[in-house]
Amino acid sequence: HLIQVPILARLYSSGASLQKEESTESKDGQGFKGHDMLAPFTAGWQTTDVHPLVIEKSEGSYVYDTNGKKYLDSLAGLWCTALGGNEPRLVNAAVAQLNSLPFYHSFWNRTTKPSLDLAKELLETFTARKMAKAFFTNSGSEANDTQVKLVWYYNNALGRPEKKKFIARAKSYHGSTLIAASLSGLPALHQKFDLPAPFVLHTDCPHYWRYHLPGETEEEFSTRLANNLENLILKEGPETIAAFIAEPVMGAGGVIPPPATYFDKVQAVVKKYDILFIADEVICAFGRLGTMYGCDKYNIKPDLVSVAKALSSAYMPIGAVMVSPEVSDVIHSQSNKLGSFSHGFTYSGHPVSCAVAIEALKIYKERNIPEQVNRIAPKFQDGLKAFSDSPIIGEIRGTGLILGTEFADNKSPNDPFPPEWGIGAYFGVQCEKRGMLVRVAGDNIMMSPPFIMTPEEIDELIRIYGEALKATEERVK
Ligand code: PLP
Repeated sequence: HLIQVPILARLYSSGASLQKEESTESKDGQGFKGHDMLAPFTAGWQTTDVHPLVIEKSEGSYVYDTNGKKYLDSLAGLWCTALGGNEPRLVNAAVAQLNSLPFYHSFWNRTTKPSLDLAKELLETFTARKMAKAFFTNSGSEANDTQVKLVWYYNNALGRPEKKKFIARAKSYHGSTLIAASLSGLPALHQKFDLPAPFVLHTDCPHYWRYHLPGETEEEFSTRLANNLENLILKEGPETIAAFIAEPVMGAGGVIPPPATYFDKVQAVVKKYDILFIADEVICAFGRLGTMYGCDKYNIKPDLVSVAKALSSAYMPIGAVMVSPEVSDVIHSQSNKLGSFSHGFTYSGHPVSCAVAIEALKIYKERNIPEQVNRIAPKFQDGLKAFSDSPIIGEIRGTGLILGTEFADNKSPNDPFPPEWGIGAYFGVQCEKRGMLVRVAGDNIMMSPPFIMTPEEIDELIRIYGEALKATEERVK
């Protein structure tokens, strides 16, 4: 009973956009083509008929393309522009820092005041348990690569050179550098890149709707997954497993909140075998779930934490790793023995990025951002989940200001639409036509609006989603 959707949908999912349909020329008459740039997560960059959507201005929850068309940015860039597109305090913080000290590094016991101040401020924001030190990176991927190096260094220092393997989860996303892509549980990140690295193992994706057995409750599902994790650890040998890494809510894998009791059970297992817990908070931190961190929401007591994205509201690239006192003590004594902690980047603790991040953290605190998220999240969640009855929607899931929609036939995870129908891509095109940008990945749609979205903008988001859904339903009935 379904008809095939057009090729346009496939183009969209590979990175092309409607701007091509509307105009192949920018307003200044210069045509944009995708072929000069090897574009991230884009197909067809080498051809001449890829016309990227070129964004040139942002304002609050909106971005504008080079034709002046306005879009509600329902993904906040890439889950990151938490304070929207033109927060003057962030801009001023950057300008002031650029004027006083645009750069100095943090190697060899030299550093800058913004990096010292940010480390202090950042550690204070994390209250799920005490964290002792912050290490700065330029991105979430670098933060997760750093995690692996820190954990190896730690286990070598403890005289456990065989305790080196990592367990991550299917469908997780931890970044795209060699190690972060290896940790990620998305096959597309591994294919033809000779990944994952052999020290990475993947355990179950905790997606109840898709993977639960008939009659199994969420709690029972969590128990089964924790048992599977324990069996994997026992099979590999607990003395070989160094750390477990998890996003509190899985983001790029399709927005998958954990099933009830999942993190309690998984934490008990890793603790039993002296395996470190790394919380990848790159998407969840700073209020997105209605708590300062995802760890607060799910009672996670991690040994190490990765953050990035909203740390600076994405105005400057910066990520960080927070390290518990126990891990940091071991790293400290080892590096003293060796004469140096020989890890770092030119831009670790870049003063401009740090100055912007300090201001972002100040704003989160002053405006009580988690509370603000909790005020608008019900409108966002309830308004969109009201579409769950659609015959082409399998599941709508989310919490706080993050939400995923998965299209499926017969409302069943076992009846995906044929990928070549491009249902998700078609929906994405319909949103874009109506002035809203969403994240499309196959038949998954993801949204994570900026924290500053107003109730009226949430209404607009819901209206466009509803219209795009109706248009998509009409294509497939
Ligand atoms: N970890 C998570 C959970 C992410 O969602 C991302 C990016 O989306 C990363 C890590 C990688 O961050 P970056 O793209 O800054 O390297």
